[in-house]
Amino acid sequence: MEDRPPGVSSRKWRYQIRPERCPICGKGHPFKAELNKHIASRHPERAAEYKVSTARRICEWCGRSYARKDHLTRHLTRKHGRQKTRTRPARAARGGGFAR
Ligand SMILES: [Zn+2]
Ligand SMILES: [Zn+2]
Repeated sequence: MEDRPPGVSSRKWRYQIRPERCPICGKGHPFKAELNKHIASRHPERAAEYKVSTARRICEWCGRSYARKDHLTRHLTRKHGRQKTRTRPARAARGGGFAR
């Protein structure tokens, strides 16, 4: 791996050198997770070989399936006007006058 110049964060550096290369087509990715996503979507027939999960996300409203969660989320938002998951639980506003 190339040396990281001073002043460049390791995250930024990985985005520049993209050290995780796809073993099938050679495309570089900054992180292993990105590479796995790439394999699942571009080379699903080889995914098992590299222990990459290709479990597809199914839209519970119309049954369309997507290889990537973010694609399903986008579909849900655009076509059905909703989010499948609420990532952040609603939290009471701080300083709302309820002194303890
Ligand atoms: Zn590839
Ligand atoms: Zn749908």
